[in-house]
Amino acid sequence: MNRSFEAATEVAERVEALRALIRHHNHRYYVLDDPEVADAEYDALYDELVSLEAEYPDLISDDSPTQRIGGAPLAQFSAVAHELPMLSLNKCTTRQELDDWLTRCMSRLGTEEALSFTCEPKIDGVAVALRYEAGRLVLAATRGDGQAGEDITANVRTIGAVPLRLDADDVPQLLEVRGEIYMPQEDFQAFNTRARERGEKTLVNPRNGAAGSLRQLDPRITAARPLTMYCYGVGMLDGGWRPATQMEVLEKLRDWEMRVNPETRLVEDIAGCEAYVDSLLARRGALGYDIDGAVIKVNSLALQQRLGTLTRRPRWAMAFKYPAEEATTRVLSVEFQVGRTGAVTPVARLDPVFVGGVTVSNATLHNMDEVSRLGLHIGDTVMIRRAGDVIPQVMAVITARRLADARAVTLPEACPACGSPIVHAEEEAVARCSAGPGVCPARRKEGLKHFASRLALDIEGLGDKLVEQLVAADLVKHPADLFHLSEEQLISLERMGPKSAEKLLRALEDSKETTLARFIYSLGIREVGEATARNLASHFGDLSALMSASIEALEEVADVGPIVARHVHGYFADSENRQVVDSLLAAGVHWPEETRDPGAAPLAGQTWVLTGTLEALTRDEAKARLQRLGAKVVGSVSKNTHQVVAGPGAGSKLTRAERLGIPVMDEVALLALFEEHGVD
Ligand code: NAD
Repeated sequence: MNRSFEAATEVAERVEALRALIRHHNHRYYVLDDPEVADAEYDALYDELVSLEAEYPDLISDDSPTQRIGGAPLAQFSAVAHELPMLSLNKCTTRQELDDWLTRCMSRLGTEEALSFTCEPKIDGVAVALRYEAGRLVLAATRGDGQAGEDITANVRTIGAVPLRLDADDVPQLLEVRGEIYMPQEDFQAFNTRARERGEKTLVNPRNGAAGSLRQLDPRITAARPLTMYCYGVGMLDGGWRPATQMEVLEKLRDWEMRVNPETRLVEDIAGCEAYVDSLLARRGALGYDIDGAVIKVNSLALQQRLGTLTRRPRWAMAFKYPAEEATTRVLSVEFQVGRTGAVTPVARLDPVFVGGVTVSNATLHNMDEVSRLGLHIGDTVMIRRAGDVIPQVMAVITARRLADARAVTLPEACPACGSPIVHAEEEAVARCSAGPGVCPARRKEGLKHFASRLALDIEGLGDKLVEQLVAADLVKHPADLFHLSEEQLISLERMGPKSAEKLLRALEDSKETTLARFIYSLGIREVGEATARNLASHFGDLSALMSASIEALEEVADVGPIVARHVHGYFADSENRQVVDSLLAAGVHWPEETRDPGAAPLAGQTWVLTGTLEALTRDEAKARLQRLGAKVVGSVSKNTHQVVAGPGAGSKLTRAERLGIPVMDEVALLALFEEHGVD
């Protein structure tokens, strides 16, 4: 065999191997809704195949995965042929590629004139086509392989964001609306938290959650899933309306009360497209739903038609892809971290991987139940997700890649920080170090970090590193010891000069003046977050009343149930804890008297829900202000909700509120309310 023949055979073999792998992954992803690899890994295989086929065009065959899109429809649903094919998109990742695309468009159109474009978020969900006849929804179909999809009408009818009827006079006789059904991130997380609590299967990501939910044979299951939709185009049209631009299409759909993404913009040139791509990427984490890029479309529909389509990808659109938020990597080991309340949390140490714009080398595993639910072994290849503000998570184990020497994860018997026995109460998901915070250095460190944190005593300059040093040098055992530190002691620490020591002492002094709510929160009582601490403070008005309150008296406080009441009561019943409190007071920690009458607050007794993105305030700020006005802020909408505040990207909560007839306001109205009551 000569060398070039050998090389050619090798290439042909690689091409076939890639095709087989890609077909396998397509089946898992499109048909089973259960991908085995992260998109980035799939994309790398796909791109390799594309470039080999570009280099060796003789090897291209009609059945290559590069020549088709999507997956075959599932046999359980009846097939729907698309009269107009549903397309995929060309993709790019650099400005240069975006510029090149524009140049190609211009030369194909033979024009020098500037084109205008729409820029839209590329939602990571499931493409669907909704067919309306005489304004009534008669059919909903998945994209499938672009030529034929699945009839999922019964399931789509359960989605509140999809109108079953379009009432306007100008709705054409036949209207096919296209868009993406997706699961908002918050709902996805809530779904998984609930599934974890019940020991049920979790969803790998919102996209697979949406795809799996839409392909339930029982529509009642779909109805219980938090799905919503953004519409971004039309397919078949007959009767009346002849839109001229993509923007006109979107505006009309909005007029007909279909959901259209408010992030959509019309831009006049390529610089506008680039600015949009950058600004959307910067806001990606705050949108509330997964996107994997931005879609740029030539605005004029006549020009779109002239540009046409090549291998199921329109030439008039380009997807600018953002860095992946999911990746596959290996678990090198599992370590156990001890938190402030003694909770022992397994943490996966990962082969570092770039995901969601940062290098991730650790991911929380929550608790041992989660480890067994995932079936995780040390050495396993796992799928990691880092999206929005959420800390990296292990979403799934790729068992097909388990190595022979993979080891099971076992809970250690002794606390890794202090050697005391670890106890795992049957009714609790978490295991705990049995030693008190005074004994276990890990608990002490975490307790001090919490004590100094922003929402507690807010001690400026006392960061995590410094706390570690203070504990390691045995200078601080209990929080009150912080207030007895001397300048000499501080200077003896590494990287601490006289100036920083002086600054820290001043910050410590300043932090002594606080509020009762902050003080209660700073103690780190189990289950007592900032809101509960605030409620306890305003209910009891002073510390001694709280410390001597019975479980029954504690249960009378807003938001305090039997479990929290037991923790609070148990905390103050412990003599070591009482000593901690006394020594803090003795060190000079104090607060002005609390106003006691919560009934006087303007929103007292009301339950509010925040959803979608807020722009002027963070969620935490808005929540804190509402609480100051006496409202209870909760995570889900029910008939007992008084008011919903919805920002852009609001999903199923907004839909539910609308269905239940609960008043909805936007951020501007919320800010006006705060101003009216003088809270900021
Ligand atoms: P695509 O999903 O990347 O792009 C086309 C789709 O974008 C359209 O069908 C539409 O649903 C969607 N879209 C979202 N917002 C839009 C908007 N505003 N305007 C127009 N369309 C919009 O393309 P594809 O070819 O269907 O799928 C490829 C994707 O699937 C890749 O991201 C790939 O990584 C992933 N995939 C992963 C695996 C795996 O195993 N992990 C397997 C197969 C495919």
